[in-house]
Amino acid sequence: MKVYLFLILLFCSGLCLSQKKKIIRKADFPTEFRMISDDILSKGKAYEQLRELTKKIGPRFSGSSNLTKAEDWAVQKLKESGATQVWKQAVPVKVWNRGKESLEIKIGNNSWKKINMTALGGSEGTAGQDLVGEILLVKNIEEFNKLNFADIKDKIIFFNVPFDQKIVNPVETYLEVGKYRWAIPANVSRRGAKAIITRSLTSAFDDVPHTGSMSYDTDDNNKIPALAIGAKSADELEEALKNKQKIIAKLNTTSTFGETKTNFNIIGEIPGNKDNNIIVVAAHLDSWDISEGAHDNGAGVVHCLEVLRAFKNLDIQNNHTIRVVLFTNEENGVTGGEVYAQQVKKKEEKHLFAIESDAGGFSPRGISLDMIPERRRQVFEWKSYFLPYGVYDFDQTYSGQDIQPLKKLDIPLAELVPDTQRYFDIHHTSEDTFDKVNRRELLLGAVTMAQIVYIIDKNW
Ligand SMILES: [Zn+2]
Repeated sequence: MKVYLFLILLFCSGLCLSQKKKIIRKADFPTEFRMISDDILSKGKAYEQLRELTKKIGPRFSGSSNLTKAEDWAVQKLKESGATQVWKQAVPVKVWNRGKESLEIKIGNNSWKKINMTALGGSEGTAGQDLVGEILLVKNIEEFNKLNFADIKDKIIFFNVPFDQKIVNPVETYLEVGKYRWAIPANVSRRGAKAIITRSLTSAFDDVPHTGSMSYDTDDNNKIPALAIGAKSADELEEALKNKQKIIAKLNTTSTFGETKTNFNIIGEIPGNKDNNIIVVAAHLDSWDISEGAHDNGAGVVHCLEVLRAFKNLDIQNNHTIRVVLFTNEENGVTGGEVYAQQVKKKEEKHLFAIESDAGGFSPRGISLDMIPERRRQVFEWKSYFLPYGVYDFDQTYSGQDIQPLKKLDIPLAELVPDTQRYFDIHHTSEDTFDKVNRRELLLGAVTMAQIVYIIDKNW
């Protein structure tokens, strides 16, 4: 028996050695980084996969039949990319239906004029009835907080707070001004206004409205409709209001929350050769209903697939399990991320690191590190390996939305930092389409993802 076992082991090690021709053996990270880059830039499939996801399937909103199609597609692609185990993790999603929506305004005695608009995700509708009210321009939340009940009652509150163009990194201004979408509508709602109109969160000056999630306070019985208009319309509206013209708005939407449905986190992995500790490579499969979701977050999805494909193709013997998690329902409540973290805790799975790509498919510029200082310092030591690929920014400290629930389990988190100068022009709009993604830039993002996963696998 022992002799057989010995022979099997001998045979197996011989076989493995012959298969390991391409294996990266010793720690020579500049060379190994180059091999990863060469492989992805010359053989990468990310761009064609993104074309399929956006053009053959299209918008992938929670609860939609398209998202179910995308789930099946992702299972297939994970297998093709080299995942040896692929499974679906059920996630309850509270479905929000946009329905029909329109906004018209009447300035002084002029006739009604239609304005491009989009309801914010999660917004209450008007049940198909016209909601008519006078628009009150409020400079910012501080000014709003000074108003009394009589000022606000029956008014449609309008905030026209633009991105600060002086801020070089658009993510910074997005996070600052973003509260007018995700937090302030709840505040306006509970104080008796009729509706809220916000300026879209964008760097651009066009007339494209941007959606995005909002929520109400749980004890709010008023729950007013919340919508966004394009920057151009917002500026024109402000101009007219400043000229002391009375403006009436007529809003009509049929958005509602429907039943709770089930979507799935799609998970695929390559088991570790040394242990079962896990490195997560993440993105979200869902998108907004009005968008192909090419940059947000189809690009992230194909980045993840590309990491697996490159590891498999280069025959990299990963020490730890490399697990791709394509989360569901990021745009509509982040329940995919919460369910995943609960399961990690329940199963007591040891996670070494999780990185998400959810800031677009533009050229990579850095890796944001959301982890304890000791771990940050370790990553800083590898900075010079990334510089030849244009990746230099390791100073950001945020991480992807879907992986953030893992933070309470003390898992080091990160996010790919692409160039975001054009990202917020199209984010959460009908303009976030495949043609806005450049093939080279997309593949370079995958290179950075694969390189950081590789170096962490070898060192942690
Ligand atoms: Zn996203």
